[in-house]
Amino acid sequence: MKSIPSNWTGQRVAILGLARSGLALARVLAGKGAHVLISDQREAEQLGDLPEQARAVGAQVEMGGHSDRLLNCEVLVISPGVSLYAPIVQQALQRGVIVTGEVEIAYLLCPRPILAITGTNGKSTSCSLLHEALGQGSRLAGNIGVPLVSEVTGDLTGVDYVVAEISSFQLETVHGFRPHLAMLTNVTADHLDRHRSMEEYVQAKARLFAYQTPDDWAIFNADDDQSLTVSEWVSAGKIPQWPGYPAPHTNLARVLHYSVNREVAQGAWFKDNWFWLRLPGQSARPVLRWNFPNLPGPHNLSNALAACLAALCVGTDPEQIERAFASYHRMHHRLEEVGELRGVRFIDDSKATNVSSVESALLTYKEPVVLIAGGRDKGLDLDELGRVLALHCHALVSIGEAGPQIAAHALKYGLRAHQRAGSMQEAVEIAYGLSPSPGVVLLSPACTSFDMFQNAEHRGDVFAACAKGLIQKSLVTKEER
Ligand code: ADP
Repeated sequence: MKSIPSNWTGQRVAILGLARSGLALARVLAGKGAHVLISDQREAEQLGDLPEQARAVGAQVEMGGHSDRLLNCEVLVISPGVSLYAPIVQQALQRGVIVTGEVEIAYLLCPRPILAITGTNGKSTSCSLLHEALGQGSRLAGNIGVPLVSEVTGDLTGVDYVVAEISSFQLETVHGFRPHLAMLTNVTADHLDRHRSMEEYVQAKARLFAYQTPDDWAIFNADDDQSLTVSEWVSAGKIPQWPGYPAPHTNLARVLHYSVNREVAQGAWFKDNWFWLRLPGQSARPVLRWNFPNLPGPHNLSNALAACLAALCVGTDPEQIERAFASYHRMHHRLEEVGELRGVRFIDDSKATNVSSVESALLTYKEPVVLIAGGRDKGLDLDELGRVLALHCHALVSIGEAGPQIAAHALKYGLRAHQRAGSMQEAVEIAYGLSPSPGVVLLSPACTSFDMFQNAEHRGDVFAACAKGLIQKSLVTKEER
């Protein structure tokens, strides 16, 4: 199997998909003397100023389809949005072209150890908590914002670690990516419109650990069945082979677990309101008392425990971690409180796009929850979603393409009340009308946003604006009276 070049001068590199990470990569590789071609199947008018930006960094651009030039390059880099099963990618693999992704190349160029987190849910929160816990000495990049390749090729003076959020799509194309610390938060059904089965999705996640060595750390969530399965593969040195990619190592990293429910042999756990730690060769000790109202819900307890364990593994002082957690500001669109009206709180959880994230959001609140959910379905188990909603919601306001189906499943399981809304404004008004006080109106949609909005952030912003509008209107009406 051919390996990725270490000298890029004169190499022909094709990048499939003109988006943020592809552009960042083009800038870096063209700067190192590679001949870069970016190819996108969208037409020029759908790409805005991206082609111009690509040309400005020295790349050639082809639009409206992919030519044979892609098959005549040494390396084909595919964007996370492009499937390995796309015909052009399969053709390239058959021709022996190296097919990889931005993460692999960033890793090869990175002068610092990478601490990487993947999982269906909790990636961004755990990564940002870890980054805060490490303080000035770390950078945060990857799926969470700045492309990894931009961060690792920037000025890293005073930086000890790069914290990277990594998605399953990014892991499909790694050849030797070896994070010094790798963590799998959980794997539940998601992205099954792209991965062909749950099994394949879990195997993609396992690739985060495939090329680690015994000098590295591998951290797993003992409360999650799939995370535990992958930990068994790593301990046994038996990560499944990913077709077309180098064989996984058999002597892998040191395995640790974390659990909010029970003591683990090596790793961290939650007991009597404390985080406990036992690293290899050490005895168990309490390291941090849990007192962080800014991290609500059982899922954030788990995310914080995960981040704390990772930070402790690389030698961070527990007091520094405690200070970082105490001053942590939750990220936008993740259980973000955007307003309150007569005892009803409006919560934006627009980033929750699968069943387990919606369930963890619902479990966070003691008050009755009126849920706004729906959007574009990405192949989730709607029956399971219906069961969860019937169990935990006071009422459902459904929106978007999948709204009626979600409601039908929830009603089948005994959901008490449902109404359909044609817009976010209508949804917010109906939800407020249905909410007791005290109560919670929660946007936790379980679907992607693309049927009604540009993206999840846009959906959350519109929700917040509608909630604030409603609050404002109500206050004005009250003053007039
Ligand atoms: P990711 O980056 O994996 O999408 P985030 O930290 O951005 O995860 O959280 C996205 C949503 O998932 C949140 O809005 C929350 O509802 C839910 N969530 C966060 N952490 C967890 C977890 N550990 N388990 C289940 N759901 C979670």
